[in-house]
Amino acid sequence: MTTYEAVIGLEIHVQLRTRTKMFCRCPNRFGDAPNANVCSVCLAHPGMLPVANGEAVRQALRVGLALGCRIPERSKFDRKNYFYPDSPKAYQISQYDQPLCAEGAFQVPGEDGGFVVGITRAHLEEDAAKTIHVGGEAGRIAGSGSSIVDFNRAGTPLLEIVTEPDLRSGEHARRFLTLLRATIVATGASDCDMEKGTLRCDANVSIRPVGSTGFGTKCELKNMNSFRFLERGIAAEIARQTALLEVGGRVTQATLHYDPSSESLTVLRTKEEADDYRYFPEPDLLPVAPSPTLLEELRAGLPELPVARIARLRDTYGLPDATAATIALTPSLADYYEELAALTGDPRLAANWTMGELSAHLNAASLEAAASPVTPPRLAALIALTVAGTVGSNAAKTVFGELVADPAVDAATIVERLGLAQVDDADELGAIVDAVLAANAAEVAAFRAGKVQLIGFFTGQVMRQSGGRADPKVVQALLNDRLR
Ligand code: ADP
Ligand code: ZN
Ligand code: MG
Repeated sequence: MTTYEAVIGLEIHVQLRTRTKMFCRCPNRFGDAPNANVCSVCLAHPGMLPVANGEAVRQALRVGLALGCRIPERSKFDRKNYFYPDSPKAYQISQYDQPLCAEGAFQVPGEDGGFVVGITRAHLEEDAAKTIHVGGEAGRIAGSGSSIVDFNRAGTPLLEIVTEPDLRSGEHARRFLTLLRATIVATGASDCDMEKGTLRCDANVSIRPVGSTGFGTKCELKNMNSFRFLERGIAAEIARQTALLEVGGRVTQATLHYDPSSESLTVLRTKEEADDYRYFPEPDLLPVAPSPTLLEELRAGLPELPVARIARLRDTYGLPDATAATIALTPSLADYYEELAALTGDPRLAANWTMGELSAHLNAASLEAAASPVTPPRLAALIALTVAGTVGSNAAKTVFGELVADPAVDAATIVERLGLAQVDDADELGAIVDAVLAANAAEVAAFRAGKVQLIGFFTGQVMRQSGGRADPKVVQALLNDRLR
């Protein structure tokens, strides 16, 4: 039987974080009353002229540079013609054959050696208005009685990023998009929040026999609105296409919608022929020709990007790739981690605490690391107590909870106040061990008869009797001694 491999390319729309819209001075803001942020330009009144937003151009260039793109000397705007109520001009100002950024390469590291994704282009365009379908099921147009339009979003700046068909699985797509998102966030160009729609992703999927270099017919999955759904939707589409080919059928080019709740794919439309948008140059806008000085300035202003930080965390602190990636993807967490690693002098232990208790607490409280009451020095003091053997691992978790609850008190005081110090006194623990063994004579006999896994049971009993404070190493030694 033929085995197939998937070929995937993504088209990503990023809403840029500018003060004003792409071609007029209306506020670029989410959540205002419908149609509050409109003017004669973004409503396409006759005779109104667009003016390109310089800040949007600079942000788009920052992203392009961060993605390793070539910035052509000159790019221009084009009109993409289509008729729909979300576009009062009946065209979208976009970029067609001369995009702002071209030919990038984006490295995704990983335990498997990682992979590189070609960036075909990244171009500027304007977003459409938001159509709201009233009376239908779940806001969909099917079955709705009417549609109303909110023009606040009309004309807001979008950066469309198109990748080469370099991805080979849903997992690849998720890993790529996760790192891409973190990279764009790091440039400050967008908050890339999929839930708010400031990051939107369409996936083009085809399959081909392993070993072949040609391309199969692709289908497009629209608007995958979370990383998990992107991964799952692609997997479902690969399975659908594979099943078709395996029974001798063929894939018809189509646009599909993935429903994560039922894990099903529905065909929105099939493409009999290519869309004809009759692109032509936008006569009302000047071409964009970023100067070498501007590009140098923007490049120099880029922060350390996630891919570089992952490599640095890995190389400087000896962290595994996956750990370095998880920490580096959230800059405030990475800052926290680096401070903690320096304070404790033990990068691995610092990473364990950062990924474990700290992250759980930050998630539960919806906090950025910098806003946590458990500052790096407070956590470092607790870690020092564990290293010294003053507190065991369970007690340390209790102390951590107290550090969260009371920002004024330090770890040593908590240990003292709650009597959490670890007991390593062999006499004190020996008495507990003897009591446990005496109370469980049958288990002791079974142990001696060869059921050695009962050591776990005895240890657990001693830990419980000691209120969780017994030093496990001393308990082990005592048990080994008594049971020999
Ligand atoms: P279209 O002309 O249909 O818009 P493009 O060539 O512009 O197609 O590519 C759009 C996206 O689809 C890109 O991300 C590209 O990498 C991806 N793509 C192109 N061909 C294929 C294919 N055969 N299988 C999967 N993805 C593809
Ligand atoms: Zn406007
Ligand atoms: Mg295309």
